[in-house]
Amino acid sequence: MSKNLEYFRNKLLTLKEEAEKRLQAIEHDIQHEDTPKDWEDRASETENDETLESLALLTERELEQINAALARIDEGSYFNCSECGAPIPEARLELLPYTTLCVQCAELLEKRQRGLAT
Ligand SMILES: [Zn+2]
Repeated sequence: MSKNLEYFRNKLLTLKEEAEKRLQAIEHDIQHEDTPKDWEDRASETENDETLESLALLTERELEQINAALARIDEGSYFNCSECGAPIPEARLELLPYTTLCVQCAELLEKRQRGLAT
C-alpha cells in the first residue's frame, strides 16, 4: 500500500471512530425513557429526540460514506472519480476524505441537483 493511501486510510479510520462515538452518544441520549415525567417535559423531550434522531441519521449517512471510502481504498479506486475515473486531487481528498467525485463531476452533480430543486 502506498504511503498516501495509508495516510488517507488512517484519516478515514479516525473519522469513522469519531462518528461511531458520536452515534453512540446520540443513541444513548435518545434512550432515556426511564423516569415518568409530566406532559410538558415529555413534549419538549420528544422535540429534543427528533433533533437527535435527525442528527443520528446524518451521522449514519456519514459513516456509510466513510465505509464506502475505505472500501474504495481496498479496491484501489480511492484516488479516482467514481463517475469519470479521473484522478481526484489529493488536496480535495484532504478536505473531503470520503468524496467519490472529482471537482468537475461534483460541480455537475450540484448543478443537476440545483436544477431539480428550482
Ligand atoms: Zn469525475
